[in-house]
Amino acid sequence: MRVDLHTHTDCSDGKLTPDELISRALDRKVSLLSITDHDTLSAYSALESVPAEITLVPGIEFSCSWKKLEIHIVGLSIDLANPVMQKAVADQQQARLIRARQIAEHLEKQGVSDAFVGTAQIAGNDNIGRPHFAAFLIEAGVCKSTTEAFKKYLSIKNLARHWPEVSTSIEWIRGAGGIAVLAHPLKYKLTRTRLNMLLDDFQAAGGRAMEVISGKQLEWQTRDMASLCIKRGLLASCGSDFHQPDLSWAELADIPPLPGECEPVWKYFA
Ligand code: AMP
Ligand code: MN
Ligand code: MN
Ligand code: MN
Repeated sequence: MRVDLHTHTDCSDGKLTPDELISRALDRKVSLLSITDHDTLSAYSALESVPAEITLVPGIEFSCSWKKLEIHIVGLSIDLANPVMQKAVADQQQARLIRARQIAEHLEKQGVSDAFVGTAQIAGNDNIGRPHFAAFLIEAGVCKSTTEAFKKYLSIKNLARHWPEVSTSIEWIRGAGGIAVLAHPLKYKLTRTRLNMLLDDFQAAGGRAMEVISGKQLEWQTRDMASLCIKRGLLASCGSDFHQPDLSWAELADIPPLPGECEPVWKYFA
């Protein structure tokens, strides 16, 4: 069974429409899929249809803050119509907009004007993220690549203050009947002591799973994350964090299998 429980569409910072993503998942023989856009559930209302070969698990990726860092918590198997979730998404959209204005002000100070309007146009919706700003900076000829844009212009101090605490997002997910998953634990570049502190807080708030697999990764990383997952008594999730087709290192469902000793999170989906 091919599983991908972390993917994005153009409802956040991905490039494919929700229907295009489903069609790619079908081509790539994915049978268990979640669309986990940043702070929005729009993909689920935009979808035309889902073929019988694919079980689509309702999901989201919340932006949160923990000790001034931006941390991502994925919610899986959530009730999309739940009022707690609806309110959470509305709050996050508001926070994202205010944050986008702050990013634009920061760019203005660095001599880049009209970034808000230009970036909003690129995003094409209210869900403006830093990748959209990166695209704007490239289009405006300020930067040559996304990497350069992030490095020079978008790694802004204190940006995480716009996001709620990790514990709040876990409350939202649980309130909507879902399972909270710590996304890509290795991406935060935390020391093991700090990662364990994050997991302490995550689990104390009711977080139940972590991504043992996030995108293509090395065998030792998989063994490392599997052993951490088991040691902490967590369920295991896996996802590509797919955003767009032309990146060979982050293709949809192109991920190693979950180690057999891990307990898969999908056993607990409602
Ligand atoms: P935001 O939601 O505005 O915080 O933007 C975060 C998103 O930007 C992540 O989900 C990634 O898709 C992307 N991203 C983060 N860091 C980088 C980077 N260094 N280079 C390219 N994309 C990045
Ligand atoms: Mn993203
Ligand atoms: Mn993420
Ligand atoms: Mn993601």
